[in-house]
Amino acid sequence: MSGWGCPHFINEKCVLLNSECNPGQKGCVLFGMVTFSNPENPSNEAVKRREEKAQKKDNSQKNSKK
Ligand code: SF4
Repeated sequence: MSGWGCPHFINEKCVLLNSECNPGQKGCVLFGMVTFSNPENPSNEAVKRREEKAQKKDNSQKNSKK
């Protein structure tokens, strides 16, 4: 089984951010898309905010149909 490989990880660095690869950092393609096991990863909070926003939107659409 092969894992996911980021297309921006080239020559041991992130060419998107021109820095060390730190998955989940702000600007990373995974930011706000993936929850990491490390609770300190900034992506986790972004995922939470995105899900809360989607839930609010869903609730307001349901309420407007009543
Ligand atoms: S920091 Fe994110 S976007 Fe950059 S190489 Fe790593 S996984 Fe890819």
